[in-house]
Amino acid sequence: MKRTSLDQWINDKHGIAADDRQAMESYQLSRIRALFEYAKVHSPFYRRLYEEYGAPESLEAFCLFPTIDAHDLVLHGPSMLCVKQSEISRIVTFQFPQQGEPVGLTTLQTSGTVESPKRIYFTREDIELTLDFFVHGMKTMCGPSDRALILFPAKTPDSVGALLSEALIRLGLTVHCEDDEKAAALLRDKSVDVVCGPRSSLLAVSKQTKGINVRAVLSSSESLSADDRNMLESAWKCDIFDHYGMTETGLGGAVECEAHQGMHIRENDLYVEVVDADGHKVADGDIGELAVTTLTRRGMPFIRYRTGDEAILTGERCPCGSLLRRILYIKRKDRGV
Ligand SMILES: [Zn+2]
Repeated sequence: MKRTSLDQWINDKHGIAADDRQAMESYQLSRIRALFEYAKVHSPFYRRLYEEYGAPESLEAFCLFPTIDAHDLVLHGPSMLCVKQSEISRIVTFQFPQQGEPVGLTTLQTSGTVESPKRIYFTREDIELTLDFFVHGMKTMCGPSDRALILFPAKTPDSVGALLSEALIRLGLTVHCEDDEKAAALLRDKSVDVVCGPRSSLLAVSKQTKGINVRAVLSSSESLSADDRNMLESAWKCDIFDHYGMTETGLGGAVECEAHQGMHIRENDLYVEVVDADGHKVADGDIGELAVTTLTRRGMPFIRYRTGDEAILTGERCPCGSLLRRILYIKRKDRGV
């Protein structure tokens, strides 16, 4: 079994040896301390939030800091920004209507009140970090001579589909981005090695192309049940890799390896915890809400941001050999990405 490709990436990029957890944790703490100072200087929101706090002395101390959530983002979004608007390269907006279901990509408990839009800002550097993760994360399941089919919408610059497409082109693959209908025709016409898409598109296209062989499938954005996996496997005889990410994590977050026993976290860019209702970190193996801290983002960093997703984490060695922490279980709140 191949070890997750993220280990080599982190070693090459940061000089952190795959099995050296002490080095990873000390890297994460130093990033958190730097982020803390950066956010307090550049963001009025974080300056207010951390008025009485100094930079954390340890990861344990950091895990007692206040959490934030999507409501803070809606109410205080612009004051969370740490750079000038002119440095922003992309803004993702989630819009909420006055009544009924949200039009955007996430759901807030609004009790019928009108919510302002939720906006998440990225600099060009922030987007490059995600692209780098996509390039190296995808190495687990594909190589330069492969043909890939992307079912995510890819027309919007820097969307999941566009970034994934760019990452696979950088890896040397031949890449097709198609809607579900054209995708089925392409699969019948050409030999495709890797298909990437949201669960709903993967299921719709696989139903129309049963019996075609695809080597690997990347599923993202929507929860993939055991039944969904079985359906995809029996339609395409494929190996399925689930990916977890949301706009707040920079789209990319964690991806499965060949062991398929949880998703390895992009720990060089994200510090991930599972917290209880009071925002206290729970032990590995316990269920709670996933909270993320972005370690490398400049535009709009998130510190102890509660995602609304239910999760279980583990730090045990994966059957692939990696000690990179994994999301063992995730129940995603409905949202687009
Ligand atoms: Zn693994």
